[in-house]
Amino acid sequence: MAYTLACRDAGETTCPFVARGETKEEVLAQAAKHAKEVHRYTDEQLNDPKMMKQMKTIIKQA
Ligand SMILES: [Zn+2]
Repeated sequence: MAYTLACRDAGETTCPFVARGETKEEVLAQAAKHAKEVHRYTDEQLNDPKMMKQMKTIIKQA
């Protein structure tokens, strides 16, 4: 079982990035790294409980 998280589902509608991982934690870690590197999100934004909750709701099982 694998999980994916599409950046466009997180609101970056023009971004083709999709994080993939064997666990939700792995997917979230990849998405966070990408968001920091490409979209210049800060740790503060990424650790925001609302953001974390939203990210978890858009994870899909592949
Ligand atoms: Zn992106």
